[in-house]
Amino acid sequence: MKKETLALHAGYKKDTQKTMAVPIYMSTAYEFESTQEAADLFSLKKEGNIYTRIGNPTTKVFEERFSILEGGVGAVATASGMAAITYAILNLCEAGDNILFASQVYGGSVTLFTHTLKRLGVEAKSFDVHNPQKIKELANKNTKAIFFETISNPSITVPDFEEIIKIANDLGVVTVVDNTVATPILCNPLELGVDVVVHSASKYTTGQGLALGGIVVEGENAKKKLKNKQRYPFFNTPDLSYHGLIYSQLKTPFSSRVRLAFLRDMGAVLSPFNSWLFIQGLEHLALRMKKHSENALEIAKWLQNHPKVKKVNYPLLETDINYPYAKKYLKEGASGLLSFDVGDFEEAKKIANKVKLFSKVVNIGDSKSIITHPASTTHQQLTPQELKEAGVSEGLIRLSVGLEAVEDLIKDLEEAMR
Ligand SMILES: *Cc1c(COP(=O)(O)O)cnc(C)c1O
Repeated sequence: MKKETLALHAGYKKDTQKTMAVPIYMSTAYEFESTQEAADLFSLKKEGNIYTRIGNPTTKVFEERFSILEGGVGAVATASGMAAITYAILNLCEAGDNILFASQVYGGSVTLFTHTLKRLGVEAKSFDVHNPQKIKELANKNTKAIFFETISNPSITVPDFEEIIKIANDLGVVTVVDNTVATPILCNPLELGVDVVVHSASKYTTGQGLALGGIVVEGENAKKKLKNKQRYPFFNTPDLSYHGLIYSQLKTPFSSRVRLAFLRDMGAVLSPFNSWLFIQGLEHLALRMKKHSENALEIAKWLQNHPKVKKVNYPLLETDINYPYAKKYLKEGASGLLSFDVGDFEEAKKIANKVKLFSKVVNIGDSKSIITHPASTTHQQLTPQELKEAGVSEGLIRLSVGLEAVEDLIKDLEEAMR
């Protein structure tokens, strides 16, 4: 079935009340029929509800629907995108290990990898997604993850998927891709050969900026790599905190361990109410992503001809360095994110202050258009060197193009840039 159809139906079987809308199960806990049933549920002999930190029926619909849209074999929803990224990475490494990450990734991921994980004894080394050969130099026997984004936020880079995946597969290292900006509608990294996908559902999933959430989706390929006992010992030795369970023997080792170890112990679980909001959003995600992509491409083309603009970054512009990759991997459109450089800090700030229709908000993926000046906001904490590596210049303006009539958006920019 096509994604438009799956987004409306997958993962939901109507219960006795036959509600068309998926019910919101706001409940912390669930009753057991007997102590025997409780024991079976705890030992995974039987599937069912125990406690909402480990699973919830509304959240399960969201997880299954999202997993199917991504072409995954299992998924775990989390309280935010950062929780999804944190658990996906912690699931692969421990003190003494290292991970490799694309220099073009979300600022929150950079600080997680280079500051927070560092204090936990995990080293993070960066590579350029257009120069994946560097991965071979950086990797060693303690490398446990290779992390990058489908369309990077905010530098809007599209990686050389094929080359990165080939190198990662030769090394036997698990690839984790943040697919937030492309969404499962525009790109399915798992089908390109990636092992694990993570998302911030806080962005395009509702499309209205309604709720924070995240999700980890496991691909079929992950299991093969996780069976390597030398590289991933904790997937191949009994988990003493879970009745001696050996995760690599399960159908979905990666997502099962995220749920049974990390959600259980660290608890950044998604609220069932937020799961319900995300389910509503998924229903029309395909329609929205098409329109976001059309509007953004039209604005990018208009900006290219503006005298004040030094450079426009949008992957589906033929002049963009990402174009060869975008053409190959983003056949349905390149999403709503674009950026342009007006040369200096003050000019960029002036434009961001003058626009009326674009809101000054540090977010993306809303149906309402957004403007940000990364150098003074989201990327303020990065050093000049890190800014350069992330592709963020001082005069860079980022737009998250919404669903308004594109004529109105262009008129607003035109007036602000006079
Ligand atoms: C927003 C974002 C995140 C973080 O997600 P939260 O839901 O805000 O925690 C991670 N990656 C990308 C690409 C994002 O845009």
